[in-house]
Amino acid sequence: TQTLHIVGGGMAGSEAAWQAANAGIDVVLHEMRPEVGTFAHQTGLLGEMVCSNSFRSDDDEQNAVGLLHWEMRAANGLVMSCGDKHKLPAGGALAVDRDPFAQSVTDALMAHPNVRVEYGEITDLPTEGHWIIATGPLTSGKLAQAIAQRTGAEALAFFDAIAPIVYFDSIDMSKAWMQSRYDKGETEEERTAYLNCPMDRDQYEAFIDALLAAEKTEFREGETAGYFDGCLPIEVMAERGRETLRHGPMKPVGLTNPHQPDVKAHAVVQLRRDNKLGTLYNIVGFQTKMKYGAQTSVFKMIPGLENASFARLGGIHRNSFINSPTLLDDQMRLRTQPNLRFAGQITGVEGYVESAAMGLLAGRMATAEILGRDIAPPPATTAMGALVTHITGGAEAKTFQPMNVNFGLFPPVEGLRSGRRGRKDRYKAYTDRAKVDWQGWLDSMAVPA
Ligand code: FAD
Repeated sequence: TQTLHIVGGGMAGSEAAWQAANAGIDVVLHEMRPEVGTFAHQTGLLGEMVCSNSFRSDDDEQNAVGLLHWEMRAANGLVMSCGDKHKLPAGGALAVDRDPFAQSVTDALMAHPNVRVEYGEITDLPTEGHWIIATGPLTSGKLAQAIAQRTGAEALAFFDAIAPIVYFDSIDMSKAWMQSRYDKGETEEERTAYLNCPMDRDQYEAFIDALLAAEKTEFREGETAGYFDGCLPIEVMAERGRETLRHGPMKPVGLTNPHQPDVKAHAVVQLRRDNKLGTLYNIVGFQTKMKYGAQTSVFKMIPGLENASFARLGGIHRNSFINSPTLLDDQMRLRTQPNLRFAGQITGVEGYVESAAMGLLAGRMATAEILGRDIAPPPATTAMGALVTHITGGAEAKTFQPMNVNFGLFPPVEGLRSGRRGRKDRYKAYTDRAKVDWQGWLDSMAVPA
């Protein structure tokens, strides 16, 4: 059959449906709401924004997400046209009036002669037909289980576990030292990959007390939904037993403190270099639901971090996403079962706009396939291309984490001044190049409107 089935009527699924339907494809859009809800969605509308009402910067010359707006508008994107219709004043950002926005996405799809919306939860991965899975960060438990089964449990994450990040120059190196456990690593870069902060027994006990007493943010009802392994918050580990952390992320083995070579640390907090420059270090295994204020005061109890300043504090939230670099081909198809495409946040992009963008692309790719046409992925010089190239191959599979669109994903434009001072010209050159290349890609497809 030539019907395209899309699971999930959020940002990605709605956009994919619109793109395919406009090219003459019969689309069935499967949405579980309002029959089955999520902890964040409030309505039964398609294209519901679950949190902020912002599509971020609308600057298509100096900002990568603004460029993505431009590219989606040029491709007759539904999410952008509804966003523009319900725009609210917000300076350089595109903020939208949330309910009228979602209502207009819903109306447009309901009124489309090629789209049928079927309400109800899809609980398994289909084996036949053309499908796009766009069920988002809150993919229902049953379907998530089916995806984990089909792709291997390791390939599906259920949570973003965000470790706090510290500026290196705020760490007291008269207490901390660099060493990787068991002195693993040969190059200078590997040897400076880890930094260690030692604790004696009293410091450890006081730290555990502080963790247990700290004010925490609760998970929202239904957020953990049965899946909660592999990324426990440190305070939950501490609740399971005072020694748990000492046998987990704070284990003191395989390390020697050069400041006190004869003293065996009772526990060690490890930090891992977070960027090539070595200016940022993240605290390994320290994802947490402690409130921000509590985090800064508790982490400053760690010897060496008394004056730490934080580039980012820790967090944990529900976010289902697959390991796209290993699982998907450059047409966003599951390598092991190419009748299934994935789109939206579940592919490891982050944000409304990025998710809609990946829906647009998956919709167009599925359309071309059904019509028997060849379609190359968009050039990596475009925002769409940079993002899809990143998730389907450019990113490191082992440490794959959700990604926002940004100019770091673009191939450089040659012959321009580097550094801060050249930034404005560089970004303008990126966006000029992207617009030409994106229009060229759209023209090359010549899918009838
Ligand atoms: P969604 O928009 O979530 O759409 C997925 C759809 O699939 C949903 O309608 C869902 O009901 C449906 N579905 C799920 N499982 C099934 C099933 N088995 N069968 C049928 N239908 C199913 N992004 C931002 O840009 N800004 C923010 O402020 C922001 N805040 C967020 C806050 C929270 C709590 C969460 C969870 C996410 C937030 N995000 C935010 C990310 C945001 O959700 C995504 O960027 C965007 O909505 C993802 O689009 P999507 O189409 O991939 O998924």
